[in-house]
Amino acid sequence: MSKKELQRLSTLALRQRKAHLLRTLSLPPEAIHASFLERFLQCGRPNCHCHQGEKHGPFFYLSRCLPKRQMRTLLLKEPAQILQGRRSVEAYQELLESLDQLSWINWELLRRGSPLQTQ
Ligand SMILES: [Zn+2]
Repeated sequence: MSKKELQRLSTLALRQRKAHLLRTLSLPPEAIHASFLERFLQCGRPNCHCHQGEKHGPFFYLSRCLPKRQMRTLLLKEPAQILQGRRSVEAYQELLESLDQLSWINWELLRRGSPLQTQ
């Protein structure tokens, strides 16, 4: 739910959403903060078909941007590794979205002068 949509909810509804989030939120053990990338690449052999349009791949990577324009990449080779990489990135994203939802609910409760810690 966006901030705008949350603003239209009653304080009771906000509190119910928050209680539900707090009940269901848990740290996903497999979470990885990265982007999951699928790439088709050209190789260095000048006469290879990949230079005529049919590139090699797909190759699967995790990549993570770091400060100062640094980047970490991890090539995923085995199918199980690729699947796990995809799931781990999704798990991290879902956790982030839940946290952000909690943050917006608290923002809205604070704006209304409503206590953030209850029960
Ligand atoms: Zn090639």
